Amino acid sequence: MSALVIRGVRKRFGAQEVLKGIDIAAESGEFIVLVGPSGCGKSTLLNIVAGLEQPDAGDVEIAGRVVTRVPPKDRDIAMVFQSYALYPTMTVRQNITFGMECRGVPKRQQAEALARTARLLQIEALLERKPAQLSGGQRQRVAMGRALVRDPLLFLFDEPLSNLDAKLRVEMRMEIKQLHRRIGATMVYVTHDQIEAMTMATRIAVMHQGAVQQFADPDTVYNRPANLFVARFMGAPP
Ligand code: ADP
Ligand code: MG
Repeated sequence: MSALVIRGVRKRFGAQEVLKGIDIAAESGEFIVLVGPSGCGKSTLLNIVAGLEQPDAGDVEIAGRVVTRVPPKDRDIAMVFQSYALYPTMTVRQNITFGMECRGVPKRQQAEALARTARLLQIEALLERKPAQLSGGQRQRVAMGRALVRDPLLFLFDEPLSNLDAKLRVEMRMEIKQLHRRIGATMVYVTHDQIEAMTMATRIAVMHQGAVQQFADPDTVYNRPANLFVARFMGAPP
């Protein structure tokens, strides 16, 4: 059974056809990167997987369940965005546990999930701080903490590192990769950065103008590009 199946997904905004029939399937534990130039439809596709947008046609299946009409909160996913969207008045601890509080998770279970997450992300020493007292990298870790603590079937990332400087971006890239190895969850990661795609993905979906140009492992995409667009965009000689 696939962890995620995107089948024939189409979407238009007014006259513009943004997704022209997308088919992608991810096995459990994969790290799928959607890569492509700005405006090619990456975020729209991720939002459809999350349930934040409705497709005009096609289906989304998570762990064998068709969720196309299921609201976001019932999809067993967690999403990390580019903007950290932490609550400024809450401490790190409160930011991470807030979702569990809302869902009525028992206190003891909350504490366990918080401890596990803080350990994984190495933010134990930051729990009583407010977001304003954190660096960019620390804030990004807390944002990931909010996703991790839910222990979802599927993690969705939309350009989570694009607000960070180049050095920190490389560090965080490695951290997310290590995290992926440790917890073995299925992740879908959107970026316009080819290096990020090449270094992080188990498989890459190269998108252009609302269509997947190639869906393959990094080595294949780089050495055997499916067409001229993939060759040029991924930096291999045409
Ligand atoms: P990417 O994430 O690859 O940069 P997006 O999925 O955000 O691309 O956008 C794809 C195209 O759809 C863009 O041309 C964008 O302007 C358009 N678009 C995205 N969301 C909306 C919306 N809610 N209403 C109208 N147009 C949109
Ligand atoms: Mg986007």
